[in-house]
Amino acid sequence: MSARIIDGKAIAAARRERLAAEVATLGFRPGLAVILVGDDPASSVYVRNKQKAAVKAGFAGGTERLPAETSEAALLARIAALNADPEVDGILVQLPLPAHIRTQAVIEAIDPAKDVDGFHPINVGRLVTGQPSLVACTPKGVMTLLAEAGVPVPGARAIVLGRSTIVGRPVAALLTLADATVTLAHSRTRDLAAECRRAEIVIAAVGRPELVRGDWIAPGAAVIDVGINRRPDGTLTGDVAFGEASAHAGWITPVPGGVGPMTIATLLENTLSAARARRGKGARAA
Ligand code: NAD
Repeated sequence: MSARIIDGKAIAAARRERLAAEVATLGFRPGLAVILVGDDPASSVYVRNKQKAAVKAGFAGGTERLPAETSEAALLARIAALNADPEVDGILVQLPLPAHIRTQAVIEAIDPAKDVDGFHPINVGRLVTGQPSLVACTPKGVMTLLAEAGVPVPGARAIVLGRSTIVGRPVAALLTLADATVTLAHSRTRDLAAECRRAEIVIAAVGRPELVRGDWIAPGAAVIDVGINRRPDGTLTGDVAFGEASAHAGWITPVPGGVGPMTIATLLENTLSAARARRGKGARAA
């Protein structure tokens, strides 16, 4: 069997185009404020890509680049100002933050209604209890890929590899809410390969290059590879050995070009839905 490739780049591009058309009918521009503290090169690239996508979709707002030595109090004061700004619908503070700033304090300072990254405990709690919420972009993007590819989720046996608060745990919650039977595996899981072989849906979010081998994949399974790992030669690879796994899987996402592009598309979708919710009925006027 040779797997169908789930083209995240094309799916994300189509969704962004639809979103831009919708924004053009709103009568206002949703505002996304991005804050980058310090000059971590990877974070700078992520922030630039998010900003570019936001502008292309017709959003207002911009990126504030703050020096690495910015105090926690100064950052919290900026967030408070953005919380109070009626033109700002979404606030994203790029992680990781410098070590002298408490990440959780920053996450919890963001107004949950503007928390387009979906990391605030209010949004996480709403997600887990099945209430409408702003859902973290990468996990929500994973669910969108499954839906767009037509992977049957209700009743399916799914395994999530990795239990981080930003990817693994919310993906497990979303799959549970979508009626999958979910195993959440992690670094202490015994015989990961055997656990994987039982699954009809495999979500890999570990951060170990090509950990998941072809013979871990049940025939016809859907494989979503969240991992982004840099090889010594500078190229990127996922958590799944793509060539081997493709020979077994029914569907598979490539790295790059799978989950990554969905994260940005979902950020824009979250910002638009935050704008609609916050600005009320008028926001729907065409
Ligand atoms: P993390 O380091 O916070 O968590 C990794 C998880 O993997 C942990 O729960 C750990 O228990 C588990 N783990 C580690 N070794 C394991 C092993 N040998 N077997 C099973 N489980 C193991 O990582 P994260 O932030 O969740 O990110 C995971 C990967 O996803 C990284 O490669 C990251 O770059 C990537 N990522 C991609 C996107 C995207 O937009 N595509 C977004 C976020 C993260």
